[in-house]
Amino acid sequence: MSEAAPSSAAGHDAIEGGCLCGRLRFRFSGPIDNPHYCSCRMCQTSTGAPIVAWGDVKLDGFAWTGPGGEPAWFRSSKRTRRGHCASCGGGAVCLDDGADFICISLASLDDPNLSTPIGQSFAASSPKWLKLSRTKPKGAGHG
Ligand SMILES: [Zn+2]
Ligand SMILES: [Zn+2]
Repeated sequence: MSEAAPSSAAGHDAIEGGCLCGRLRFRFSGPIDNPHYCSCRMCQTSTGAPIVAWGDVKLDGFAWTGPGGEPAWFRSSKRTRRGHCASCGGGAVCLDDGADFICISLASLDDPNLSTPIGQSFAASSPKWLKLSRTKPKGAGHG
């Protein structure tokens, strides 16, 4: 695979990710925009994690590819739904009504190193025992 393969119509390799059990799978062709941490209480209580690393992906070209199809959706605020695998609870995603992008959890990617968070939303509710390096406060988040 060292030779350049014929490129797809989109010109990007597919990026894939999914949940713990594999029923929820997704695929898209980059880029991953706005990679950031969020430590708001909704991210914490919906995932059980002290902080979630999110990235935005265009819905155009995004597909649910696993045997479970779409995630189970929970409306967490007036204009936002959060999704996860109905079987194992993994594969957190977040979708605003009318948005042309979906927020995916970077740790759900098959390669979690594809994108690096560059900021932190809701730093004030980050646990005091959690130490992050190279982050700065950030305005927007998924409240
Ligand atoms: Zn699952
Ligand atoms: Zn959050």
